[in-house]
Amino acid sequence: MKRDDIFEFFRRLAEANPAPTTELESTNPYQLLVAVVLSAQATDASVNIATRPLFEHIQTPRQMVEFGEERLREAIKTIGLFNTKAKNVVALSEALIRDHGGEVPRTRDALQALPGVGRKTANVVLNTAFGEETFAVDTHVFRVCNRTGLAPGKTVDAVEAKLEKRVPQPFRRDAHHWLILHGRYTCKARLPECWRCPVADLCRYQPKTLAPNARPARTASRASSAARIATARTAAKRTAGRSRPRPTRLP
Ligand code: SF4
Repeated sequence: MKRDDIFEFFRRLAEANPAPTTELESTNPYQLLVAVVLSAQATDASVNIATRPLFEHIQTPRQMVEFGEERLREAIKTIGLFNTKAKNVVALSEALIRDHGGEVPRTRDALQALPGVGRKTANVVLNTAFGEETFAVDTHVFRVCNRTGLAPGKTVDAVEAKLEKRVPQPFRRDAHHWLILHGRYTCKARLPECWRCPVADLCRYQPKTLAPNARPARTASRASSAARIATARTAAKRTAGRSRPRPTRLP
């Protein structure tokens, strides 16, 4: 995608949603960090359901350590990989108390040194909690960047490096959220909704998905193929019936 098109791409996403943010619920950087760790391979909605009651009582790493791994496991058991995640959250809380005075560190290296925190989680925390211009590449961002031609790459690291290079000001801080939300609600994995996409003319993905009422009637063609299958089955049964040897009478 050309430089002017990239600017226009973000200008339109910004116009549609001037203040994008994460859908994970939290009230401070520590809760955000925990929520992001819990959200690996899980939806934000499922994490919010589990953390809403949990975060009413737990706002600090110390409170989490006192709460303990067993009770945490029970509280988050509706989220995938809850055993490992409970272990990591308690361990990272202990590390925050031990190495950072109970505060969430503001550098990528320090964040990535925490149990259960990878580059993507560190990027989300740096961006959302501290306003850094980082580009966390999750499955939605990866898909949108490749489909559109905004920042194509075979790996998340390659896509992130291209975003770093290509996203212009004043969009760098919120680019990550615009891309996630665009992928989650418009440029969906199975069927991108190109017919209502605000950046369709800038995107190189082909062929564009047509609006539901502009697509060929699939129900009719499905019905006719079902009818064809039924006719073929009946014919096969008749043929099989005819070729079967007739029962002979016993003497
Ligand atoms: S036009 Fe389609 S493929 Fe391109 S960004 Fe929009 S929804 Fe995604």
